[in-house]
Amino acid sequence: MSADSLAGCHAVVTGGGRGIGLAVARRLAAEGAVLTLVGRDRARLDEAARSLPASAACRVLACDVGEAAQVARAFESIAQAGRGLAILVNNAGIGHSARLADTDDATIDALLATNLAGTMRCTRAALPLLMGAAHGRVVNIASTAGLVGYPYVAAYCAAKHGVVGFTRALALELAKSPVTVNAVCPGSTDTDIAREAVANIRARTGRDEADALGALAARNPQRRLVTPGEVAETVRWLCLPSSASVNGQAIAVDGGEVAG
Ligand code: NDP
Repeated sequence: MSADSLAGCHAVVTGGGRGIGLAVARRLAAEGAVLTLVGRDRARLDEAARSLPASAACRVLACDVGEAAQVARAFESIAQAGRGLAILVNNAGIGHSARLADTDDATIDALLATNLAGTMRCTRAALPLLMGAAHGRVVNIASTAGLVGYPYVAAYCAAKHGVVGFTRALALELAKSPVTVNAVCPGSTDTDIAREAVANIRARTGRDEADALGALAARNPQRRLVTPGEVAETVRWLCLPSSASVNGQAIAVDGGEVAG
């Protein structure tokens, strides 16, 4: 591939059926990448694949990234498909907000399994393929919650801090290879997760919808939610061959929220 093209590169996007993952898939497809979308909901993945430009060769794979055996099977299938692999975007994730005292074991396990262990397992399974690419790229969608703490999301913050630590360590481990490893850390972004957060703020505080949304947006110095497309654009840039010296970074896409 040339220094500014992703044409023909095969990219796996976990959680590619909606939200940030779908925006990333669209952005990479627009650059000519061929895609495999991974997620639990097969029907939603099929719908997402159909929504991509007709030219985007897109395959879908049903897989729960929190389940080790499913991840192993999915990447076996990706290897057997013979398209190679240049880009892995670890985007699949779940949110949860509650006081730690009200966060049960099943919730802690699910947050860590999906957001952190899923990222590590998918990356480990993808690495033999990525090593065969001229410019392998791992992009982990962490969060500003991977860089700073917020109240009522201790387990989510712990998982996302883990993703950032994993990113930094693996980037150094692979620095002599053609593979870079970076994290993108969005602030509150306009997707289902943000809508769940708004519902949670309403339930906890009794605020109306506009007020609750305002509280979420107020964390961002630009006083708005980030758009999925803005996150996708940063992912695209990290994936370019010309971004080869950007490695081990956790790049906030947050209107300046964690700048202060
Ligand atoms: P959405 O809820 O819109 O999408 C989440 C995606 O992850 C879905 O496609 C879902 O697909 C997939 N997913 C969830 N659990 C699993 C699983 N166990 N196995 C496979 N796929 C899974 O959320 P966003 O688009 O907002 O979130 C994407 C990423 O961005 C997450 O990692 C999130 O933590 C992060 N993020 C989001 C922010 C926000 O404010 N929206 C802010 C900062 C970070 P399916 O249901 O089919 O499995």
